[in-house]
Amino acid sequence: RLVGPYFDKFATEEQRERFLPGCVSGEKILAIAMTEPDAGSDLAGMRSHAKDMGDHFLLNGSKTYISNGINADIVIVAAKLADSDNPHAVVLCIVERGMEGFERGRNLEKMGQSAQDTAELFFNNVKVPRENIMGEPGKGFIYLMTGLAEERLQAAVGFISNARHAFDITRDFCMERKMFGKTLAGMQNTQFKMAEMDMEIEMAEVYVDHCVELLNKERLTGEIGAKAKYLASEIEWRMLDLGVQLHGGAGFMKEYAICNLFTGSRVNRIYAGTSEVMKLIVGRHIFSEAYSSTLV
Ligand SMILES: Cc1cc2nc3c(=O)[nH]c(=O)nc-3n(C[C@H](O)[C@H](O)[C@H](O)COP(=O)(O)OP(=O)(O)OC[C@H]3O[C@@H](n4cnc5c(N)ncnc54)[C@H](O)[C@@H]3O)c2cc1C
Repeated sequence: RLVGPYFDKFATEEQRERFLPGCVSGEKILAIAMTEPDAGSDLAGMRSHAKDMGDHFLLNGSKTYISNGINADIVIVAAKLADSDNPHAVVLCIVERGMEGFERGRNLEKMGQSAQDTAELFFNNVKVPRENIMGEPGKGFIYLMTGLAEERLQAAVGFISNARHAFDITRDFCMERKMFGKTLAGMQNTQFKMAEMDMEIEMAEVYVDHCVELLNKERLTGEIGAKAKYLASEIEWRMLDLGVQLHGGAGFMKEYAICNLFTGSRVNRIYAGTSEVMKLIVGRHIFSEAYSSTLV
């Protein structure tokens, strides 16, 4: 669902027909590879490059932290357009399983989300046929920025529902756990902290719903996606931290759901763009001519 929209929006009709049926049936697993060992937040600093050779592009470089990197059948690889002066001239190459020169590295060990593979990828003189170039060569950066706005909003939907789930299981725990002759829920500190989170989560739920409406009206912009992702992931994080705290020692034990939610979600303020980068995007928009509130 994260990578599919790139085909829908930027691929040719022929590419859609060739790739999308397998994705929809679940036979083909997708990945998108932007991040490199020396270029994460600063995507324009990527070193992977693709040289136009006429009937194909010659792709060289490496990527890291790629979700589905081990299992993917089709990887959209972002690379600089070789021989271009424009640092934002990026080509999106559709690399398929088995293409010569395409190698997968380690399945990286993570703090959480162990069910999902995250890997390094290597491209050594991979001949990417011209018909596997997505959209117009050189415009890849614009495609990525458009795709990332939707990806961030999708992420926000998941994060805020996760926050609500963490709230619910923490509420149940507090109502059960007894100490000092009453339940944990009876302590004013618990009520105050949970009241704050209930209000913050509700506020974010309404905001994220509003952003989904904007997406449906084709009015989603980069800064709106960034605001939704920032708010949802930061509120989710505060809820998970509170959830672990209120569970006491149990919150550190893997047999309690809050523990796995906590470790599995720590990355949410990092991937798909860090919270700092989200503020950078929102901040730039505030001081641009185009500024207006999302709610106007
Ligand atoms: C589990 C997982 C899955 C991932 N899946 C994918 C994937 O499928 N495809 C893909 O392409 N990438 C993927 N990533 C990569 C992810 O998007 C990057 O890790 C993320 O964008 C941050 O880049 P970085 O790790 O290089 O950190 P860096 O960019 O090195 O950031 C380090 C710190 O510097 C801060 N920072 C950076 N710039 C600024 C600034 N201008 N001002 C202030 N602070 C700043 C950051 O906020 C951060 O705190 C994944 C990462 C993880 C952990």
